[in-house]
Amino acid sequence: MNEEGLEPLLSRNGRAVLAAVQSRPRCSRADVARATGLSTSAVSTLVGNLIGAGLLVELGINPSAGGGRPSVSLGVAPRAGSLIGIHLGHADLRVVLTTLDGTLLAERRHVLDVDHAPAASLDRVARSAADLLADGAVDASGVRGVGVAISAPVVGARLLGSPPMLLDWGGVDIGGILAERTGLPVHLGNDATLGALAEWRLGAGAGVDDLVYVMLGEGVGSGLILGGRLYTGATGTAGELGHLAMVSDGKICRCGSRGCLETLVSKRALVSALAHTLGPSATVEALLDLAESGDRGALRLLADAGQVLGTALAGVCTITDPRRVVVGGDLTARPDASDALLTAARRALDAALPPVANHDVQIVRARLGARAEALGAALLAGSRVRSVDVL
Ligand SMILES: [Zn+2]
Repeated sequence: MNEEGLEPLLSRNGRAVLAAVQSRPRCSRADVARATGLSTSAVSTLVGNLIGAGLLVELGINPSAGGGRPSVSLGVAPRAGSLIGIHLGHADLRVVLTTLDGTLLAERRHVLDVDHAPAASLDRVARSAADLLADGAVDASGVRGVGVAISAPVVGARLLGSPPMLLDWGGVDIGGILAERTGLPVHLGNDATLGALAEWRLGAGAGVDDLVYVMLGEGVGSGLILGGRLYTGATGTAGELGHLAMVSDGKICRCGSRGCLETLVSKRALVSALAHTLGPSATVEALLDLAESGDRGALRLLADAGQVLGTALAGVCTITDPRRVVVGGDLTARPDASDALLTAARRALDAALPPVANHDVQIVRARLGARAEALGAALLAGSRVRSVDVL
């Protein structure tokens, strides 16, 4: 960094520009001016200095500029620091390394034992993060924080209670243990909530301020962005869509309740329904393969799941009035299966929404795939980095 560039970079305005780029995907100079209230010429000078110092980069022409003039989108350079995002799933572990604005630099995925014990799993997480840094040849001193996405309601650095899929994890100080192992600040969040954050900032939810994200995985999770902010509720359990009671005489759910949405539309529910005809070879992959080949039974199963999901979403949309619903997770991993599910969901949502609600709400397929939750975890860690630590 040359002497000339130092003063404006260390100024409050220099930090504000960096923070604006960090928190907006494909941010242009005009976006920075709007976000910071600085003049366009001041923004141009500061952006030029930050690029000269290697903290910002130009990413190319912004395709989403709409009817206006094309603009160059900006991003935070790896030199400004990096983030580690971890998704500790039911059966697998994904670790990503990103820039401060969530651009993927490197990634690792491992299969975990289904009933993984906390100590062994956290060991694996810490080792995997260290390996990723070694692989990516990234200076560990440039990592600003670690985010962890986990499939349970989270309050602070701990899980709320003992979640049914992670019984042994209740009360384990995940954040504290990983902070000690990595020497970095660690932040914990619910996986569907962080998936919502990632799809909103980097994926299919970009450009709207009110968004519902639904993750159709082992269970059914959801995350809410309301008024341009992540909404987790008074006690951290907002968006537990999977445990909305849908049928009074349904199956008993792993949560102890009966007839929950996830007993009808999760991966588990669909695979177990498919086992009736396929036997032990019923898997999610088999279901998606059959749907792709036009199998009527598989398409019917997905459409029925979509119908139940659409009905459940009508309640959520009536209360929260989102602009867009983004549906992700394994069941939407391929276009044909996703189309069957989302078309039925759209129809059921329309039928169940009261006339006063917004019937123009969009239902779209997620864009980040199985990576969303880990990227969201990195973005959570990024949101806690102070720009003063970077400059
Ligand atoms: Zn339940």
